[in-house]
Amino acid sequence: MKILVINSGSSSIKYKLFQMPGRKLLSKGSIEHIAEKGSEIKDHYSGLKLILSKINSVDAVGHRVVHGAEKFKKPLLVDEAVIRKIKQCSAIAPLHNPANLAGILACKKLIPGVRQVAVFDTAFHQSIPDYAYIYGLPYELYTKLGIRKYGFHGTSHEYVAHEAARILNKKLQRLKIITCHLGNGCSITAVDKGKSIDTSMGFTPLEGLVMGTRSGDLDPALIPHIMRKRKLDLDEIDTLLNKASGLKGISGISNDMRILEEKASKGNKRAQLAMDIFVYRIRKYIGAYIAIMSGCDCLVFTAGIGENQKSVRSKITKNIFKHLKKAPKVLVIPTNEELMIAKQTYQLIKD
Ligand code: ADP
Repeated sequence: MKILVINSGSSSIKYKLFQMPGRKLLSKGSIEHIAEKGSEIKDHYSGLKLILSKINSVDAVGHRVVHGAEKFKKPLLVDEAVIRKIKQCSAIAPLHNPANLAGILACKKLIPGVRQVAVFDTAFHQSIPDYAYIYGLPYELYTKLGIRKYGFHGTSHEYVAHEAARILNKKLQRLKIITCHLGNGCSITAVDKGKSIDTSMGFTPLEGLVMGTRSGDLDPALIPHIMRKRKLDLDEIDTLLNKASGLKGISGISNDMRILEEKASKGNKRAQLAMDIFVYRIRKYIGAYIAIMSGCDCLVFTAGIGENQKSVRSKITKNIFKHLKKAPKVLVIPTNEELMIAKQTYQLIKD
């Protein structure tokens, strides 16, 4: 069965075509600059038309959808009700969900009758208990506005947790795993018996670890303080926290960990500081997740930094398991969100 996986963003569509259940990658590619000035690709419909023209036949399509809020706890076959609910989730994910939905609607028009499945980045974290996802805010903000921790990168955390169990030849239901997705966006998840019980990202992907350009956790009172001091409006503070902070903001050099590592090795103090802060925050979260799971059998690193930067991994794990009776296995597992989406799509439609 040929499964096309679509990751439809605001100005790009990435795709991978898999033969399932064999997991064979048949083709992949991307269309960039959609709807940008001077681009020939005016919208997602034209982008997908181009992609489909390169592919002979498709049996089903799996779509990455960023935000499923509390409405989606697992992947679902797309129908009118699902489309309506994804639209409703756009209110809390205005940057992502409309683009994801544009991909779904374009496929609906271009290949009517081919089944489509929506796989949500937030779904894996829907098992987090209320005492971990409710913020210390007035409770009505949760009931009326849906303000709570949702968590992201769910497909990646779920995929590497499954792979870890497979590599260790153990049942996922018997393992306590901490998964570290360290790319430009970074998040860490406590996976207890195959379920996410806490994760570092929150209502948005800004919470948690220090990332390429995002601040991660900070004192919320800083936001009005910085706005007043720097005379910033809402959009400007949003940009400061999401685009000008993290490794980039601290180092004043780059959001790219490879560049920081090189600069730090040549004695650049700010690059070194950015790396130290990055590592320290991850170590704190690992400690917290060992505490909430009463142990850890396996620590997984994935994504750009996690997969490729051994020196960063070594700093994170240095002496960190000394107090444990048995040190967890440390694994490096390349993430493959598209394959996970293909697997979940196949599971849903194979019968
Ligand atoms: P994204 O979240 O954009 O998918 P990636 O997972 O590609 O990000 O990770 C990007 C980060 O990984 C950067 O900080 C980059 O420096 C670091 N990195 C280190 N080695 C590599 C590599 N071989 N390829 C890609 N990124 C790498």
